[in-house]
Amino acid sequence: MTLLHITSAFDGGNIIVHDAKDPSNIRLAIRPDNNSDFFQWFYYRVTGAKGQPLKMVLENAKDAAFTGGWENYRACASYDRETWFRVETTSYVNGQLIIEHTPEIDSVYYAYFAPYPMDRHADVVAEAALQEGVSLRVLGQTVQGQDLDCLSVGTGEKTIWIIARQHPGETMAEWWMEGFLSRILDTEDDVAMALREKATFHIVPNMCPDGGRNGNLRTNETGANLNREWGVATIQSAPEVYHTIKAMDEAKPDLCLDVHGDESLPYNFIAGAEGIPGYTQKQADNLAAFLSAYETGSPEFQTKHGYPVTAPGKANLTMCTNYTAHAYDCLAMTLEMPFKDNANSPNAEFGWSPDRSADLGAAVLDAMMAVVEEL
Ligand SMILES: [Zn+2]
Repeated sequence: MTLLHITSAFDGGNIIVHDAKDPSNIRLAIRPDNNSDFFQWFYYRVTGAKGQPLKMVLENAKDAAFTGGWENYRACASYDRETWFRVETTSYVNGQLIIEHTPEIDSVYYAYFAPYPMDRHADVVAEAALQEGVSLRVLGQTVQGQDLDCLSVGTGEKTIWIIARQHPGETMAEWWMEGFLSRILDTEDDVAMALREKATFHIVPNMCPDGGRNGNLRTNETGANLNREWGVATIQSAPEVYHTIKAMDEAKPDLCLDVHGDESLPYNFIAGAEGIPGYTQKQADNLAAFLSAYETGSPEFQTKHGYPVTAPGKANLTMCTNYTAHAYDCLAMTLEMPFKDNANSPNAEFGWSPDRSADLGAAVLDAMMAVVEEL
């Protein structure tokens, strides 16, 4: 008889096993991010449970970073780590998250969202760097010594920066990047070719590779939340942001898009920089035009649901969007995608997914095209 076994000792893994003797009452906990109290990301493998109904209790779910993230949430599962489907998840009973599933084969993975492995990042970056007109440079090294990859493409006057995964557990952001990259590098796409003539793109597909590899939700190796480090990062605490700002100072953004996932809201939406001191009419007009064009270009994007708009002058300038809008007087935005699903067009089998994230990433070109001349 094969013994049931659970591990997270791999790239992006995160789980603490308290007791896995009884398949109908497996006791687990999510490990906090490095040097941090944040946690929510989980990713683990179960072996030796083929045909057995599993009841997996994540005991510390009530203390997770965003407990609203568990409401109407269903965990992701995969046999082949390519197709991630949703499984029955009882949210927040007595502060616990309970995942119930009967694996059909001997090896099954469970995760908060479809993971985005470092190997895949390396493959995508290498493939992009092979394309004509694309250059790759390393902005610097992370605390663990990983390279911070930046791809550049285009020859135009306008400068567009796109960064993703400042919060490493928001893997949909790098799935989005794959869709964006495949379209901007498509030499048969008229919009892509026009944009490459009008703008120069600088693309950082993964801002926090250490956190991604560690299985963190929100922080880098030192425990820094990168999206609270803009303008204050040191090379020791948050080299990822420190090096990116240095590169931006040399190629100042006319547009900066920072791609994220939101634990709670079941929608795709954008937050702007309305709260910065000196927010201009031009910034407001460009934001409105961008939002309207994104909504037209993708049925998955909407503008009705999102974060409340920050009052004038009250913006937190340590966040990428506010910092870049303020420092470079540009159109800066934060894109948020759901961990759960898009409530406007729910998909019972997959929820919000890598494929849907990639489609949304491809569609952003139409929104950029609508504003590029005005930046
Ligand atoms: Zn985020």
